[in-house]
Amino acid sequence: MAFGNIDDDFLFPGGPDLLASDPRHPLHEYHMAQALEQAEMARDADEVPVGAIVVHPRMGIIASARNQREELQDPTAHAEMIAITQAAAALGSWRLEHCMLYVTLEPCPMCAGAIVQARLPWVIYGAADAKAGACHSLYSITSDPRLNHRCRVIAGVLAERCGGILTEFFAAKRRSGKK
Ligand code: ZN
Repeated sequence: MAFGNIDDDFLFPGGPDLLASDPRHPLHEYHMAQALEQAEMARDADEVPVGAIVVHPRMGIIASARNQREELQDPTAHAEMIAITQAAAALGSWRLEHCMLYVTLEPCPMCAGAIVQARLPWVIYGAADAKAGACHSLYSITSDPRLNHRCRVIAGVLAERCGGILTEFFAAKRRSGKK
């Protein structure tokens, strides 16, 4: 079954190619707000607040996940990893063709590697991560021409809110540490 012609699709009017150039497109902001809700759930559970969702052009949101490293005591339990696993289960396929991964923070090298393995065509992130980002900041794993798959990456969607929740989380941690 081909999804090549998605011009008439409700979720992506005009097709994702048209959206790509505009990080302020309301659909990107709408989806990033969903990822932010996941980040807020992480924060409320005292986890580093990062959230991710996966959107399929016809099925809509097929995965919603948050960082659960503390809860699961699992170093791989980043929001993107969990969302990718959920999305693959929803599609019944490890290939996340036509999907868009939205994540509030620029993916780390592990998650960027998983994104390439999942053949995700689109990654949209909020805040850049100067210390660990692997889409632009430290590495460019998702667009490295030496790898067998490259994603199209859109950066900076709701970046202030996505970065702000992290800044506030770590500031609160420092404050409570001083007591
Ligand atoms: Zn990660």
